Amino acid sequence: MDLGIRNKTALVAAASKGLGKAAAMALAREGANVAIAARGEELLQQTANEIAGATGARVVAIPADVSVAADIERLFGATIDALGPVDILVNNAGGPPPGVFTDMSDEDWLGSAELTLMSAIRMTRLALPGMRERQWGRIINITSMSVKQPIPNLILSNSLRSAVVSMAKTLSDQVAAEGITVNNVCPGYILTDRIRQLNQSQAETDGVSSDEILQRSLSDIPAGRIGQPEELAALIAFLASERAAYITGTTTQVDGGRYRGLF
Ligand code: NAD
Repeated sequence: MDLGIRNKTALVAAASKGLGKAAAMALAREGANVAIAARGEELLQQTANEIAGATGARVVAIPADVSVAADIERLFGATIDALGPVDILVNNAGGPPPGVFTDMSDEDWLGSAELTLMSAIRMTRLALPGMRERQWGRIINITSMSVKQPIPNLILSNSLRSAVVSMAKTLSDQVAAEGITVNNVCPGYILTDRIRQLNQSQAETDGVSSDEILQRSLSDIPAGRIGQPEELAALIAFLASERAAYITGTTTQVDGGRYRGLF
């Protein structure tokens, strides 16, 4: 299937590795030119080189911390200078710290709001005017299965990602007639460095191997295995495509069946 996004400009946040990198790779394979952002310059540039080498797409690496408003403005300016206005925006960031309600101070809540909610708001605000001018745009937020089924010990993530989903759903209504779609994707348990690190630290706490921790998690997943970043990226590429023009305001999990609700 031709996804119809050749030569579109995509901006993928938090993309030096993991889910963001896989999304950038999938969009580049479909012929989009891609700007990727993350805080550390060296790994980001390596990733850009890897994606460009694998796909032949134009890929630019723009160091930016998406929890900082000024960085986001600079990121957009640099993307437009290098590749032109943003047609496809993939909002992503690192996860907020774990913990329960009684662990969290105002600073924890406000810092996580900057990272998870305000980053998506600010990026979207900067992308929208150009999309409206061209009457074409795709905005995709990487959230988590937790927006459908909250995960214990992740009060900040559960709460702020739900706000992203609600913002996106409300915005999708406002811009649907202008050729702009807004959707959320919800990873379940997908093998990235973040998961490797979490498993390793749990393994040390429990005095078992990290493979043992992985096996325990699988008991909850009907597919019986952990997901691969490319499996989330495939949905992102489709939602970014011309073919998905009539899909907006959705929130779709990629989780091997782990979420047990009906909708
Ligand atoms: P990862 O650690 O493999 O990659 C995170 C990426 O984000 C890296 O490129 C890192 O440099 C970048 N990043 C982090 N903070 C940033 C910031 N402030 N500004 C710019 N870039 C930043 O993690 P991942 O597994 O790819 O997770 C991506 C997001 O998806 C996270 O918010 C995570 O909580 C969420 N998530 C992941 C899973 C999963 O199973 N992997 C499940 C649900 C939700």
